[in-house]
Amino acid sequence: MTQQYDVIVIGAGVSGLYSLYKLRELGFSAKVFEAGTGIGGTWYWNRYPGARFDSESYSYQYSFSKELIDEWKWSEHFSAQPEIERYLHHVADKFDLKRDIELNARVATVVYNETDKLWEIETQNGLRANARFVMCATGLLSAHQFPDYEGVESFKGLSLHSARWPKEPVDFKGKKVGIIGSGPTAVQIIQSIAPDCAQLTVFQRTANWCTPLRNASITPQEQLEFDRKAQDIFDLCKRTWAGFIHEPDARAAMTVPKAERLARYQELYDRGGFSLWLGNFSDSFTSREAADEVAEFLAGKIRERVKDPVMAEKLIPKHTFGTKRCPGEKNYYEIFNLDTVDLVDLRETPITKITPTGIETGADLHDFDIIIYATGFHSITGELLRMDIRGENGKSLKEHWSDGPKTNLGVQFSGFPNLFAIMGPHNPALFCNITRCVESNVEWIVGCMRYLRDNGFETIEATVEAEEAWTERCYKSAEGLLINDMQDSWFFGSTNPENVRGRFLLFAGGVPAYREIFADVAAKGYEGFRLS
Ligand code: NAP
Repeated sequence: MTQQYDVIVIGAGVSGLYSLYKLRELGFSAKVFEAGTGIGGTWYWNRYPGARFDSESYSYQYSFSKELIDEWKWSEHFSAQPEIERYLHHVADKFDLKRDIELNARVATVVYNETDKLWEIETQNGLRANARFVMCATGLLSAHQFPDYEGVESFKGLSLHSARWPKEPVDFKGKKVGIIGSGPTAVQIIQSIAPDCAQLTVFQRTANWCTPLRNASITPQEQLEFDRKAQDIFDLCKRTWAGFIHEPDARAAMTVPKAERLARYQELYDRGGFSLWLGNFSDSFTSREAADEVAEFLAGKIRERVKDPVMAEKLIPKHTFGTKRCPGEKNYYEIFNLDTVDLVDLRETPITKITPTGIETGADLHDFDIIIYATGFHSITGELLRMDIRGENGKSLKEHWSDGPKTNLGVQFSGFPNLFAIMGPHNPALFCNITRCVESNVEWIVGCMRYLRDNGFETIEATVEAEEAWTERCYKSAEGLLINDMQDSWFFGSTNPENVRGRFLLFAGGVPAYREIFADVAAKGYEGFRLS
C-alpha cells in the first residue's frame, strides 16, 4: 500500500535526522528512507580504520538542544567514527526518531505527479510512498566510486572501498596491502593500518598538503570549559567564513614581517586541525605569494620528517596550498620511513590494470592480499543523480543539469516544485563544518514549508531567472580565489563522470553571507521562488 506523508526525507545521516526532528516539531508527518541498514549516513558507511572528525568534536555536534549538548561528552578533540556513530544513535533515540526511519530502503525513483501535486517515491526494494514535499538529505560525499581500471572485479583477494567498509574488523596483520588514493580518507587509513601490515604499498596520483591533526583526549578541565562555552563555540562558528572555530588574522600575510609570519605558521601547525588552512592570514585564499610561502613551510616539514629525500619529494604536493581540504595527519610522514611501506607515484608509473593477484603498473606487478580503494566520491551531485528524479513534464534532474547543476540558493531546482536538497550543489559545503551548514539549511527549508502551510500555498518552486542568477553568483564567488588552480578536485566536479568539467559546484561567498542571503530571501516572502 502507498503511504502518504507531508514530507519524505531521503537519507538518515546528520541532515536527515535533524530534518525529521524539525519536521515533527512543526507538526508535519514525515518518513525517512535510508539506504543503509543503520542510521548515520557518512558515519555509518565510512567505518574504515582511522575515520574521525576533521572538525573539532564540540563544534561539529548539533546545537539545537541544550539538554543534548549538556549530556553528551566527547572523549576526544577529534572523535573517531565509532563514537560519532554512537552519538547519532543517541540523538535518534533521545528524540525517538527511529520509528519514522525505514532502513535498508534505497530510493530509486522520485517522480512528480502534476495533477495531485504530489511526489511519488519508490525504493529499490519496492516500498512506495507519496508526499507533498521531498527533502534530499543524501549527503555531498556519499556516492562512492571505484576507479575504472580494467580488471577491478577480477582481484581474487579482498577488495575494500573506504565508503563501504565492513562492520567486522579487518585483520591486516601479516598481510600485503595495496591502497589506491592519497586524499583525506587514504591518509587516515594509511597511518592507522601501516604498523600492522606486512607490506603496505600506497598508489599515489596526487600528494596532498597534510597538516597535523593534534588529536588528544578531552581532559576533565577542558570538558568543564566546553560546557561553559558551548554557545560561544556555536556563535563563533556562525561568524567564521567556513563555520569552523578557526578565525584568520585580519591582516594580509605580506603586510606582516617575515619572521612573524613564519612564527604564525609554526604556531598554527602546532595547534592542529584546520588551523593552518583556515586560521591563517585574511588573504590565504587569494594571495599566491602567501600560499606559496605556507607550501614552502610545509615542504620543509616533510623533508625533515621523511628520511629518504626521493620519497620526501614524492610526498610534497605540486599544487597550490589551500586549494583542497587539508588531510589531518598523525605520523603520516613517518610511516614512509618504515621498511614495510612503499609509495608508487602514479604520475611516473600509472596503473595499467588490476589483476587477479594485485595491481599492475607500467613498471611492475604488485601482489596483494588486500586492495583498498580510497578513491573518493561522485561529489555533491552524485547521489542526487543516481536516483531517477523527474519533475514537471517528466523532465529528469539529469536533463535539467546537462550543462552543469543549476539551483536557487543550493536548495531548489526550477521545474521541481516542493523538492529540496540539503548540502546539494551551490552551498558553502566545501568550506563548511557540515553540521553548522546542515542546521541552517534544514531550518530554512522547514521554515519555508511552514510558511506555505500557514499562508495557504501548495507549492514552491525556484524561478528560472533566480536559478540562473544564483548559479552565476556561485561561479562568480570563486573568481579570484586560488581554488581555481585546482580544477581537478571535487569542488569542480572533476570526480564525477556525469558532470560537465570545470563548473564550480559550491558557493564560496562564506557561511555568514549565505545565512544572510537565506534570511533576506525569506523576509521578502521567498523572493526568487514561485509560490502557488
Ligand atoms: P578524495 O579527496 O576525492 O580523494 C580520492 C583519492 O583517490 C585522491 O588521492 C585521488 O587522486 C585518488 N584517485 C581517485 N581516482 C583514482 C584513480 N583512478 N587512480 C588513482 N587514484 C585515484 O576522496 P576522500 O579522500 O575520500 O575525501 C573526500 C572528502 O571527504 C575530503 O575532501 C574531505 O572533505 C572529506 N573527508 C572528511 C573526513 C573527515 O571529516 N574526517 C575524512 C575523510 C574525508 P587525485 O587527487 O589525483 O584525483
